[in-house]
Amino acid sequence: MCSPAIIEQVKKRISRRNALAALGGAGAAVSTGCLPASVSPKKTVRPSPKKKRWSSKPVEQVSFSRVVDLSHTLHPDFPAWFEAGKEVTTRGKRTFVPPAVVEVKPVFEWEHDKVNLNQVTYWEHVGTHMDAPAHFSEGSTVDEIPVEDLVLPLVVIDIKERAAKDPLALLNIEDVRSWEDEHGPIPERACVAMNSGWAKHVETPKFKSLDKKGKHRQPAFHIDAVEYLMEEREVVALGVDTFSFDNQHSPGSDVHYRWLGDERWGIENLNNLDDVPTKGATIVVGQPSVKGGSGGPNRTMALV
Ligand SMILES: [Zn+2]
Repeated sequence: MCSPAIIEQVKKRISRRNALAALGGAGAAVSTGCLPASVSPKKTVRPSPKKKRWSSKPVEQVSFSRVVDLSHTLHPDFPAWFEAGKEVTTRGKRTFVPPAVVEVKPVFEWEHDKVNLNQVTYWEHVGTHMDAPAHFSEGSTVDEIPVEDLVLPLVVIDIKERAAKDPLALLNIEDVRSWEDEHGPIPERACVAMNSGWAKHVETPKFKSLDKKGKHRQPAFHIDAVEYLMEEREVVALGVDTFSFDNQHSPGSDVHYRWLGDERWGIENLNNLDDVPTKGATIVVGQPSVKGGSGGPNRTMALV
């Protein structure tokens, strides 16, 4: 017989994808032999080529005196990777013409209906948004990310000086090492965010900094820094204040494939990183749990 406390513990354990992965999908029932049929583990995650390397332990204690909004307001003219009506070709050589990136259509209006309700449509990867592992791999979708992984110690690494001179500046491994020389090792289970100063350009052409061929330019992560954060540190999430982790220095989207392909997530188009300390804040990502989502706009904040 199992006590309710044990069953509760088992329920918690089976909700964690790394526990499932470690048990090859058999669930904790095998080890306890007492899992009731009503809580038999559903397939909550897709099998991933690699199981993640960090534990799902939550941030232990958080005290804060203010909350900083790290999201931009989403609107129909928010700069996006693609433009509505402008044909694009995918990696799979498929061409298509993107529809409006963000659309807000009133369904009920106060004036006529005494109630307001809109139908909102948007591309998943616009505004301040998450890239779930599934965006560039067969890994977890947004609804499969444990909530413990959405509340993390926040590290902000500043490359504004270089980015001001070069729109293709990269946050490289030397930036991470010099941050660690000053502040100590990157904390376990951190979100490491690049502050390139790009957020303030969001309403101007500088945000895309198109080159002569019409290609975007914006600061991003160097793959070596990303490898270091994966291999040498237990970093859960990457963040950037631009609309991509990659730029023209990694045209094959190396950072996206490597990072998301290793069951880690990321967040793009962060705002207000100047208002948070380089170390010591906690990032909280209010990510809508859309079944099968590869990412999506959210309200992200920092507890300082
Ligand atoms: Zn994205």
